[in-house]
Amino acid sequence: MPLALHSRVIKAAALVGSGLASFTRKRRATETTILTFHGLSENVGDPDILDWTLHLPVEAFRSICALLAADYRVVSLADLIEARTRGTKLPDNAVVITFDDGYASNYELALPILKRFDLHATVFVTTGFLDGDDMLWFQRVDLALGHSLKQLIDWKINGKKLRLYLGTRELRQQSLVRLMPELKALSDTDLLGEVDRLEEALEVATPTLEDLPKAMRPLTWDMACDMALSGHVDIGGHTHTHPILARCDSMAMRAEISTCRDRIRAEIGELPATFAYPNGGTDDFTRETLLLVREAGFKAACTMINGRVDDQASLFQLPRYGSPESVWEAEATLSGAYETLKDWRQSCLKAMSII
Ligand SMILES: [Zn+2]
Repeated sequence: MPLALHSRVIKAAALVGSGLASFTRKRRATETTILTFHGLSENVGDPDILDWTLHLPVEAFRSICALLAADYRVVSLADLIEARTRGTKLPDNAVVITFDDGYASNYELALPILKRFDLHATVFVTTGFLDGDDMLWFQRVDLALGHSLKQLIDWKINGKKLRLYLGTRELRQQSLVRLMPELKALSDTDLLGEVDRLEEALEVATPTLEDLPKAMRPLTWDMACDMALSGHVDIGGHTHTHPILARCDSMAMRAEISTCRDRIRAEIGELPATFAYPNGGTDDFTRETLLLVREAGFKAACTMINGRVDDQASLFQLPRYGSPESVWEAEATLSGAYETLKDWRQSCLKAMSII
């Protein structure tokens, strides 16, 4: 377990063990928390992938679902939309489960757990990924840095010169962490050309669907249909090729949203009601993005801006929390213990005139 993650888990366990979690849960009972997951895996840490943060150990997900079933009320995004549009209330301590991107593990590993605990989730799919036409660009970067036989490369990007060391797995992971923010800052058309050039410089082939390590593989459309038919999952949109929409021009942005909607309608048989913005930070979508998503017929959209859904939250900018890495972290996130600790630290620092 990486050091940062280990300390997060210890901090979360301390907050829950101190009783702060049960106190704060009462305080925030009327707000809804939306959790974001990506893939699950039985083999987290295997050397075939550098960045495992998008793939949670299946046992951690099972423990989190047991907690949700016992102490919270899991509702669907459809319930949330209905409550908002009709002005009705959701149950206290409501939680929404979401998954982004559309990994096969959502079907193979998550669905049986959702069924076991009778929980509901929304899976936001990147439709070109499910079609098998478009590998996710960040998977290509992970595999290129992870599989290259080179020891280092010098890379110019955004006016900077980066020396990317590849001598060990740890160095490859550090190079990935340095490169990703630079890639995310590029326009979408520049980004795809940059990934092509990176693969060329690293002397690795663009991966095909068959080359993907198990945890990275997409859902098939049959799996997505089975999930929708199970009654435990709604399929939502997450663009066609997973660009950061704010880095697209208007025409590309519109096409990404409408193609995604049309592919889901063609394969699942109904219009998707909900959407999630890739990357989802404040700079990753624009006012135009919100309008285009609404115009395409979606009823709500999720960001990755941390926060809870209260009466004031916009249905097209629903806040979410990133994937908790353990049941402790889930409890600290859901209960509000993290925010209480943060508020307390801020007020202490203010009192000491440090900020
Ligand atoms: Zn995504």
